Amino acid sequence: MNKNLRKAVIAGNWKMNKTRPEAKALIQELLPLVKDADCGVVICVPYTNLETALAATAGTNIAVGAENCHWAESGAFTGEISAPMLKELGVEYVVIGHSERRQYFGETDVTVQKRVRAALDAGLTVILCIGELLEQREAGITEEIVGMQTKAALGGVSREELGRIILAYEPVWAIGTGKTATAAQANEVNHYIRTVVEKLYDKEAADGVTIQYGGSMNAKNAEELLDQPDVDGGLIGGASLKAPDFAAIVKAASR
Ligand code: PEP
Repeated sequence: MNKNLRKAVIAGNWKMNKTRPEAKALIQELLPLVKDADCGVVICVPYTNLETALAATAGTNIAVGAENCHWAESGAFTGEISAPMLKELGVEYVVIGHSERRQYFGETDVTVQKRVRAALDAGLTVILCIGELLEQREAGITEEIVGMQTKAALGGVSREELGRIILAYEPVWAIGTGKTATAAQANEVNHYIRTVVEKLYDKEAADGVTIQYGGSMNAKNAEELLDQPDVDGGLIGGASLKAPDFAAIVKAASR
């Protein structure tokens, strides 16, 4: 499978961090550092920072994403934000199915699928997170879990729509823990996910789909992870909050 067929995408996931002035300052520091990137650069920010981020990145090579969206277009869902609301703002990307949503907010494969559907219908590109818990890895069922999550989330996604899906393999035990999957572990699971996509669609679709790795990726370990044949970029949490660190990862993906 040819890595050159795919564009690497480095996406920051700011989680619940940064006020608007802090967001503006971080983006201003980041812009000159990533302006020559030869990969996609996305920052996924809290809802309150979306307008600030869109204004600060207008006309640049940084795209803006949200960290979640609801499955309904509108209605009585207090505290939620819909995909058309994001689209209307000018947002291009949305993270769906992040393990923190699954762990703390009752997100399931069913709700992930509904959110993916809503995001695609609104014209957004989805960064779809999948990954196993530590006990699932230890029980030897990693492939079963990520395979099930992938199939569920892509249920009803057409081959054409797959072009607006980025898969992000994020082993839950590696997120925010400082424990990174080895490059070999990341590549092995990413490769497996690609075979799942091939079974669902076809080889060309599998060859073309971007599959990121996420989980404590940082300026030091990025190069080795991103060099793997099936790792097409990264979803970056902690390290995306520091412009030089995030820029170093973007540089590693641009080589
Ligand atoms: C994430 O939030 O998706 C993530 C990978 O976090 P971290 O890089 O901090 O492990």
